[in-house]
Amino acid sequence: MAFDGFDFDKEKDFSTWYSEVVKRAELCDLRYNVKGFVVFRPWCVMSFKKMYAAFEKELEASGHRPALFPALVPEENFLKEKEHVEGFAPDLFWVTEVAGNKLGERLAMRPTSETAMYKMYSLWIQGLSDLPLKIYQSCQVWRCETKATRPFIRSREFHWIEAHDVFATMEEAEAQVRTDMETTERVMHLQFGVPFIYFKRPEWDKFPGAVETFGADSLMPDGKTIQQPSTHLLGQNFAKAFDVSFLNSKGEREFGWQTCYGPAISRIYASVISVHGDNKGLVLPFDLAPVQVVVIPVQKKGLEEKIVAKAKAVAASLRGRGFSVECDCSTSTPGFKYNYWELRGVPLRVEVGAREMESGEFVVARRDTGEKEKVKEMELPARLNGLGVAISDNLRLKADAWFAKQLHCASSMEELAKALDKGGFVKVPLCSVKMDGKACAEKIKAETVGDVRGTRFGGKDKPVHSAVCVACGKPADEVVFVARQY
Ligand SMILES: [Zn+2]
Repeated sequence: MAFDGFDFDKEKDFSTWYSEVVKRAELCDLRYNVKGFVVFRPWCVMSFKKMYAAFEKELEASGHRPALFPALVPEENFLKEKEHVEGFAPDLFWVTEVAGNKLGERLAMRPTSETAMYKMYSLWIQGLSDLPLKIYQSCQVWRCETKATRPFIRSREFHWIEAHDVFATMEEAEAQVRTDMETTERVMHLQFGVPFIYFKRPEWDKFPGAVETFGADSLMPDGKTIQQPSTHLLGQNFAKAFDVSFLNSKGEREFGWQTCYGPAISRIYASVISVHGDNKGLVLPFDLAPVQVVVIPVQKKGLEEKIVAKAKAVAASLRGRGFSVECDCSTSTPGFKYNYWELRGVPLRVEVGAREMESGEFVVARRDTGEKEKVKEMELPARLNGLGVAISDNLRLKADAWFAKQLHCASSMEELAKALDKGGFVKVPLCSVKMDGKACAEKIKAETVGDVRGTRFGGKDKPVHSAVCVACGKPADEVVFVARQY
């Protein structure tokens, strides 16, 4: 069977590259017959599970415990927090009938779980000894997205983790928001190699019901931004709505101080495959690859059985050392197999042929750089581990170097539009990130198709003394980042 490999230009035509890699690497199937819903196939779900595990480990290390709440939320719960219901109502899927009977009260498929979880938190939390309460769940949520859906980037059902915490003080809640941002850094950047910036969202772009929202924005290869994990300081808004309260040290009833944090695994996967992939297909970080090492027998006439036996033995021994290994003993040509596993992003390939059997040295090829080297059989596990770390480091450093080049500045609407055409983030002076600035953000959107993402968290981007808002010309109080977004 002929297979000339995957060959799409990620830089020149990212959109085609993305659609093709999703299809050809068999990541998901778009043919399911409910609009906006896709089927995730094993090759991506095997990575999903590793990504969930990485986040869950960090969350548990910072005191969270897992739970599972029902997917259905009664309408009554939604109506309790006014901003929240206004923010989510247009996107809800409703269950209105059960076993042929119309329901008296509609049930929503959760679009996020505040209204399910806090109902129970109000029963669980009574006194200071019940705090802090830190719970997460790994689950699906449903939102009827009206924008065009794109696998992993935007669909009507997505897979995520949501952590919901309650504290006795505002200070503890604020500290949790910073911890959530550090979790994103440790997992999404240091482990998955995806760079991002945390922005404090403008007043008009906060999570419905939150006091403050911090969102991580990454970039896709076409220069558009993609929103990644957000963490929200909820203050006492939801606590008041759901009566999440405790007896404080003075014996008075006080409302809890809340936060929530939501890494969307399917969306982060979109960034992982897009940022690291190349024109041959996927390139996966070592710890996320469903198969880390593929062993390929390179046949020679007369030695077929011996070579296959050796390849299987090498694979079994590596498996015993903790690697996830596939031994491709199919009848395809070595070239076909190389292309096949390269398209799927397997980080390391070990070739076992007649020459290798004689010399006791195997050819090892890296997916990220294409470099090959010979490794003695005894030294194989240690070397593969070392190469695995080197691959993940290389992917992260390459992504960081590229990301750093995507930051631009502008001081007028014309400059902003030009800079956005090149892609990436553009820093501009804006009059305000309070509600007064909303009209200016809308003007920017209308004239440049750029979205005001907010002010950089921990950044020192203060406007110069004479700077004026790019949209209205009034003195600028803030420097905001603008980008076109997915
Ligand atoms: Zn303005």
